[in-house]
Amino acid sequence: MKKSSEVVVVGGGPCGSFAALNLAKLGVKVAVFEEHGEIGVPSHCPGHLSINGLKNLGIYPLPPKIVENIFYGVIFHSPSGKNFSIRFPSPVTCTVNRVLFDKYVARKAENMGTRYFLNSRVDSLIIENGYVKGVTLGNGEKISAEIVIDAEGISSRLLKQADLSSLNPQMLVKAVHAEVENVKNLEEDMVEVFLGRNYAPGFYAWLIPTRGGRAKVGLATKIGNPKDYLQRFMRKHPEATKKLGEAKILRESFHSITLGEMIPKAYSNGFLAVGDAASQVKPTTGGGVILGMNCARIAAEVVHEALTKNDCSSRFLSKYQKRCRKIMGFDLKVMLKMRKMLDALSDKKIDSIIQFCKKTGLDKALQNFKDIDFQGRSLLNALRNPRVSLAIFYFLISYALGNP
Ligand SMILES: Cc1cc2nc3c(=O)[nH]c(=O)nc-3n(C[C@H](O)[C@H](O)[C@H](O)COP(=O)(O)OP(=O)(O)OC[C@H]3O[C@@H](n4cnc5c(N)ncnc54)[C@H](O)[C@@H]3O)c2cc1C
Repeated sequence: MKKSSEVVVVGGGPCGSFAALNLAKLGVKVAVFEEHGEIGVPSHCPGHLSINGLKNLGIYPLPPKIVENIFYGVIFHSPSGKNFSIRFPSPVTCTVNRVLFDKYVARKAENMGTRYFLNSRVDSLIIENGYVKGVTLGNGEKISAEIVIDAEGISSRLLKQADLSSLNPQMLVKAVHAEVENVKNLEEDMVEVFLGRNYAPGFYAWLIPTRGGRAKVGLATKIGNPKDYLQRFMRKHPEATKKLGEAKILRESFHSITLGEMIPKAYSNGFLAVGDAASQVKPTTGGGVILGMNCARIAAEVVHEALTKNDCSSRFLSKYQKRCRKIMGFDLKVMLKMRKMLDALSDKKIDSIIQFCKKTGLDKALQNFKDIDFQGRSLLNALRNPRVSLAIFYFLISYALGNP
């Protein structure tokens, strides 16, 4: 077992690498096993991230070549083509090149002493006397560890082996992410969101400008094939066609997004799950990088404490779940409610809500809604403004009255 470590991390995505980075900073001997031959490849995500979130993680500013664009706000489009926008006085989000971003976090972890093993798929957990004690690789090699951190993304394979419940399949949406050129009529410093059942049932479609007429476009859907929905969206949506009607897809990838808030138990003896593996994703937008990395940092702290106290029991590691809940439990609950309410609205209702938001001048009022990672708290702040309360009231009434 020459590769044995105090901690083994399964998966070299942003959450696995950030857990490794923070463990290495605390002096823990850590090894990351990544099934692919290159960190960040293949990429399935447009990497739309909040600047405040990155700052709070201590990794902003990023090297300029990683950041492909920055944004001052968002334009919401209703199914029939009405729109409503919120613009902030300073940039709030950015889009990163996910391959370079993942490599950057991994390089930081490596520089702190983390060992990376590429082309190294973890096949199973080694379990002895009820404790996870390491992993077995695809080639049969056994790697021992005091604690294994599962950062393998949405597959839930290791969760099941650790006897934990897997991600809720009802709360998975199928997504497509594409990079396109020859996009017209873009506001280059605004992200666009397109709501409506006809184009992205159970989620929404997005348009994230990069530069020079290029953009990242995508959507997720609860039903059907996302590839077909993307074609339909680009060629038929009344507003999207003005921008994407002649666009050419350069690359596309398919992956699922988990929207069901954090799994009820993300730890067991000698084992923790972080990032998408634990469904640490915003149910409203599907954004998981910032929340997952926040939880990865907590995981590193708890694992360090467990190793210091020589107690890797499920009881001790439960601190991880409690601390994650403390920073985001409320927000995830509010976002999940918002997701369910949005899913229940008909296209006609969405149209009238967007019109209402525009009429009531909600764009100004919503400028308090700046923390896009912790939306529950932002919503409470924004509710202090009577216009926002009115809009939420209208939204709730629309929801309560059901779909026509
Ligand atoms: C279409 C789409 C759009 C998205 N847009 C955004 C966005 O704009 N902003 C945002 O914040 N989030 C977005 N997300 C979500 C975001 O991509 C994830 O939340 C994020 O990648 C989670 O990071 P992770 O490290 O947990 O998992 P991943 O990034 O999935 O990394 C998991 C890693 O584990 C490796 N692995 C898996 N199994 C094994 C194994 N058995 N052995 C070894 N290695 C293994 C994989 O190869 C991979 O490298 C989007 C997701 C999708 C699908």
